Amino acid sequence: MSSGGILYVVGIGPGAEAHATPAALRAIAEAQVVVGYTTYIKLVRHLLEGKEIVRTGMTEEISRARAAVERARDGAIVTLVSSGDPGIYGMVGLVFQVLKDIGWRRGEPPELRIVPGVTALNSCASLMGAPLVHDFCGISLSDLLTPWPVIARRIEAAASADFVIGFYNPASGRRTRQIVEAQSIIRRYRSGETPVALVKSAYRKLQHAVLTDLDSFLNYEIGMLTTVLVGSSNTYVFEGYMVTPRGYTNKYTSDGEVLDGQHPGYSLVVAEPAEEKEEA
Ligand code: SAH
Repeated sequence: MSSGGILYVVGIGPGAEAHATPAALRAIAEAQVVVGYTTYIKLVRHLLEGKEIVRTGMTEEISRARAAVERARDGAIVTLVSSGDPGIYGMVGLVFQVLKDIGWRRGEPPELRIVPGVTALNSCASLMGAPLVHDFCGISLSDLLTPWPVIARRIEAAASADFVIGFYNPASGRRTRQIVEAQSIIRRYRSGETPVALVKSAYRKLQHAVLTDLDSFLNYEIGMLTTVLVGSSNTYVFEGYMVTPRGYTNKYTSDGEVLDGQHPGYSLVVAEPAEEKEEA
């Protein structure tokens, strides 16, 4: 067997280089071949001098993953670039599909190195304050590869369980119906005043953030570069920030004193007896 190369699958974060990790930048610097969707390649173009670049369009994801795997198997150091985190709606899933198709085994070339990045949920949350400080989930509204009834069921479950919801891929030029349906599903469980943030192109040149609410957010532009953050029933707006409390006020005063009947380090004591008793 010929000596194989290395396949880095790298997340470069939301945009600006300052938000890519040093490990991600090192993987790009080390690469002989850099593979990625044109937009992401552009974001790191100043790091690419002297490297072979394989740029492909959005719909050529499978051939991009295949090209990256094949070049690395043949001995090159290849870096496949994804925006955000490569493992969150990113390229690493397709890489595994290609590896499976070619019968790759762990320990055989190429050596796989997955480098995490700051995902859109993190970067967009940081621009809005503290929306994800309590339980949240991510849902992609793209039904190009997932049937809409499956997505709708997940929205319903997340809405009924009062998760903060981060919508990836909320809409595109052709795909505009999904976010409208998502709004009406969530509205069945949450008030129209629930805070909603629309963050477009976080940490990129055209960054634009809007803080609005569940009844009004569809009046604003939502596209392929937008992440939509929908608050839980506890999320509130403070000084233009979106804040989901962790629940400290259930247990402590603002001076840090423990409230009567509560115990630090132990489960929160609730006033109402729990409806379903757990078996001892
Ligand atoms: N792997 C990426 C997600 C790819 S799916 C990550 O971890 O972030 C593409 C979706 O991600 C977009 O439709 C948008 O909803 C979101 N997204 C990616 N980058 C973004 C950014 N800089 N600002 C806002 N949303 C972004």
